[in-house]
Amino acid sequence: MNRMLARRLVTNVSRMNVLMKSFSTQVAEDAGSLNEKLSKEHEKKQTISNNIQQYDVAIVGGGMAGMALACFLASLPMTKQLNVAIIDSNPALGSRLCIKKDDPPDPRVITVTPATISFLRDAGAWQYVEQSRHASFNKMQVWDYTGLGYTRYDARDVNKEVLGCVVENKVLHSALLSRVEATDFQKTIYPLRLTSMTLQPSSTSTVVDKFSSTASSSAQRNLAKLELSDGSSIYAKLVVGADGGKSRVRELAGFKTTEWNYSQNAIICTVEHSIENQCAWQRFLPSGPIALLPIGDKYSNIVWTMSPSESGHRKSMNDDDFVEDVNRALDYGYGPHPKSSLGTGDLFSWLNMDSTFSANQFFEIPPKVVKLASQRMVFRLSLRHVNTYASKRVVLIGDAAHTVHPLAGQGVNLGFGDAFTLSKIIAEGIALGNDIGEVHLLKRYETERKPANIMMMAVLESFQKAYTIDFGPLNVLRAAAFHGANYISPLKRSIISYASGDQKLPLFT
Ligand SMILES: Cc1cc2nc3c(=O)[nH]c(=O)nc-3n(C[C@H](O)[C@H](O)[C@H](O)COP(=O)(O)OP(=O)(O)OC[C@H]3O[C@@H](n4cnc5c(N)ncnc54)[C@H](O)[C@@H]3O)c2cc1C
Repeated sequence: MNRMLARRLVTNVSRMNVLMKSFSTQVAEDAGSLNEKLSKEHEKKQTISNNIQQYDVAIVGGGMAGMALACFLASLPMTKQLNVAIIDSNPALGSRLCIKKDDPPDPRVITVTPATISFLRDAGAWQYVEQSRHASFNKMQVWDYTGLGYTRYDARDVNKEVLGCVVENKVLHSALLSRVEATDFQKTIYPLRLTSMTLQPSSTSTVVDKFSSTASSSAQRNLAKLELSDGSSIYAKLVVGADGGKSRVRELAGFKTTEWNYSQNAIICTVEHSIENQCAWQRFLPSGPIALLPIGDKYSNIVWTMSPSESGHRKSMNDDDFVEDVNRALDYGYGPHPKSSLGTGDLFSWLNMDSTFSANQFFEIPPKVVKLASQRMVFRLSLRHVNTYASKRVVLIGDAAHTVHPLAGQGVNLGFGDAFTLSKIIAEGIALGNDIGEVHLLKRYETERKPANIMMMAVLESFQKAYTIDFGPLNVLRAAAFHGANYISPLKRSIISYASGDQKLPLFT
């Protein structure tokens, strides 16, 4: 057993090494002034030979990351005149959803961090979320099945008002779309899929160049050509792959990935309580964490990680049995409640110079679930990270570049960080008169985002591993970690800041 564990740990450490080796170190950021010649060129919506539309930017994938990029580009003075194509066959992009507060909740939700809220507020999108159902939470409790410890977090620990906000996917997506529509941003939505892409020969892409065999103009030769599912084509100076974990752009551009599957699935669904839930709860069970996230009114969302066979069983069991299982998992099942012992905290009192608000809060039992309020959906979980984020004329953002375990609700927050940084770098490129598809410009985006994404992936990976191994000494170490995180104030503040989207490392600051 010990040898097996040791082998698993060694394998995981070497996997993380592969990820860490792909760090880049260069950090460069210049401010620039407006280059009129270039911005005029960007204002022009051109139709070049044989009536193929040309765009400054083609965003492939109008999900969260793609729409966030459109939203940021629409709100920055230097980029709002760009001519942008958004390619996605998702019907949500075609018909404006009118979401009412009493509509049935979407079982897919996102926990957005304060950093993301701030990006979205500045871009004018957050006001649309505020008009719909959403729930901010200012408290969080994390514990495990051994009953050896727990950690409470409170927004007041870091002088913030909220730790995060839970928003249904359809609400957030519709907010991004509404914001883009409310501006005079020149965007064209293609309700189609990208099928093929042709890049110029100097690109690092493995895609075969077809331009040389046609009598195309020099302008066309210097652009990417995208072929769409109805047989039509468009050209673009920059192709942004925001097309999710199975990215076609990534595949066509020949970007390699480092990836592995967790032998875990996540069941998600919406549940109802008899009272309003205002706290985010997460309990680590032997087969994975279960999270109960408030989404407003008396509803919460469940994200429950477990083995594929357990998820198959729990997806098909009747609603009442499932609700009972959820209540067991969040309360008395698998092991005892941790004791709210301030005595244990005294062990750390020498480090607890300025105690946080939450350090003396007692362990609480989450509110009981009374009813299942949506269908149950099952997702396979995997980790994936692309080795290169950018080459000439192509760049990846969101899940197309990285897919993480949902245990800390960070996936789309990383994608929003990518979209924000890319929009800023495109704006800087325009200001300096650069071609926005040039690799040296796009590499600056990679230099900024890759270390931040890899660091978050490494943190999530260690959590995932540490909490799925049931082994005596490790359980004690985990308990010490709970106590440390609960009672050592600088550590607790550092964890909250990092999880909130601050770009600091999760160490003492
Ligand atoms: C169970 C679970 C819970 C999660 N919880 C959270 C959470 O609490 N917080 C959080 O931050 N993240 C969470 N995530 C992660 C989050 O859902 C993803 O990170 C996020 O949805 C990725 O957004 P994206 O826009 O990059 O990709 P996607 O949402 O996958 O969007 C990709 C888009 O591209 C389109 N597309 C695909 N192929 C093509 C093509 N060939 N041509 C054109 N368009 C194409 C698709 O139609 C889609 O609209 C969770 C994930 C899971 C599985």
